[in-house]
Amino acid sequence: MSEAKNYKEALQHPIFNTISKASAQLNLKSYVIGGFVRDYILQRGTAKDIDVVTIGSGIELAQEVAKLLPNHPKIQVFKTYGTAMLKTSDIEVEFVGARKESYSEDSRNPVVENGTLEDDQNRRDFTINALALSIAKESYGDLLDPFDGINDLRSKIIRTPLGPDITYSDDPLRMMRAIRFATQLGFKIENESLKAITRNKERIKIISKERIVDELNKILSSDQPSIGFKLLEKTGLLNFILPELIALKGIDEIEGQRHKDNFYHTLEVVDNISENTDDLWLRWAALLHDIGKAPTKKFSKKVGWTFHGHEFVGSKMVYKLFKRLKMPLNEKMKFVQKMVLMSSRPIVIASDVTDSAVRRLVFDAGDYIDELMTLCEADITTKNPKKFKKYHHNFKVVRQKMIEVEERDHIRNFQPPITGEEIMKTFNIKPSREIGIIKEAIKEAILEGEIPNEYEAAYQFMIRKGNELGLVVRS
Ligand code: ATP
Ligand code: MG
Repeated sequence: MSEAKNYKEALQHPIFNTISKASAQLNLKSYVIGGFVRDYILQRGTAKDIDVVTIGSGIELAQEVAKLLPNHPKIQVFKTYGTAMLKTSDIEVEFVGARKESYSEDSRNPVVENGTLEDDQNRRDFTINALALSIAKESYGDLLDPFDGINDLRSKIIRTPLGPDITYSDDPLRMMRAIRFATQLGFKIENESLKAITRNKERIKIISKERIVDELNKILSSDQPSIGFKLLEKTGLLNFILPELIALKGIDEIEGQRHKDNFYHTLEVVDNISENTDDLWLRWAALLHDIGKAPTKKFSKKVGWTFHGHEFVGSKMVYKLFKRLKMPLNEKMKFVQKMVLMSSRPIVIASDVTDSAVRRLVFDAGDYIDELMTLCEADITTKNPKKFKKYHHNFKVVRQKMIEVEERDHIRNFQPPITGEEIMKTFNIKPSREIGIIKEAIKEAILEGEIPNEYEAAYQFMIRKGNELGLVVRS
């Protein structure tokens, strides 16, 4: 137990005063607990979601608080969990009655009883998440910290309140949470805990995919996501979650020829891209950009190691992976697929940047050309400073060329200068194959630079192409 500490300055928001009054009226002892207290002491800014635990009914307390607030906000009650949520313009408070949980081997759901504050702190995941501040008038801001979480906060350590095997086995999601907090906060998972995660890794199977993905997304949204993925790999959890990444591990050598370790390369790419974008889906694309390399890996005496078509194979794997993890199969997934599919395109043209290659790249990437370039720049992980400089320079040239070509040819939101209607009218024909052929030929001619992206030039081209197909202009 640490010496008595008081953090009343953490409780300046007027809501705490209201909760204090409501608690007094109901004769309940209430505390702010968990993330809010942790983040306040870490000076991570004041959190917007507040967890309040009361020795009694959380729902009744929430109702009383709502009554005392001037605009009587509606509360959301979750009967099954015995919790209630209250939202104001700037914060969200979740109320819960203190409880004691006991788990048995064969059931995922604990037996829940009313408990003391200590019982409730025991069922928390980590010592740093079990810190509680009293909001009773006479002890306003007093810290209740039975596991010396404050010391773990200072030493940047993730530790479980109970024996780690118990904590992790009771709710295996906590293994993901440990790794997520280690990544977000830059903390170390205490050794016994890390060993316990390794021992209990298989139990992650009983956790829903949605909750796992939530944690993965938080890891990916951190400043340095590689910390988390290395821990997931080290503990063996990654095998159950993203085996596609595990398949990228290792370096093969045949006849003195080696390829790079694509797992660690991938993690470097994810860290690199995280310096330049907060876009979660672009970070997913970085994580998955090379997954097609495992199934396409080949060795030939002539050229050494190859991964032919890995971008295409990888983009197909994205769908299966999203589906397995119950992630949304929507535009975001398609975006990730597109990035994986196109991930080598800028690299291929970078050594010989022609106008037509740039037009094709911009045309195919559409709205996502900037994201694609950001991905490719992050993909440069060479340790050779000369090469590093050269590759970055090449991409600068590509970007410059893109600006020039775009100013002239407006490929980015390409609209065909001649419509199908106009082709039908010009040649007096009904909807037919020829129309598609002519439209495609016009597009190709523009991308190849044979004609400018302008109406008049495209019109003349259409006439020529139509004539070739045996069509004549209607007089
Ligand atoms: P953040 O909001 O940044 O994700 P947090 O610590 O507030 O971090 P929440 O998921 O909001 O996390 O949970 C609030 C509190 O509830 C935690 O601080 C912790 O005390 C407790 N808690 C949450 N999930 C678990 C769990 N799986 N096992 C035990 N305690 C948990
Ligand atoms: Mg929270």
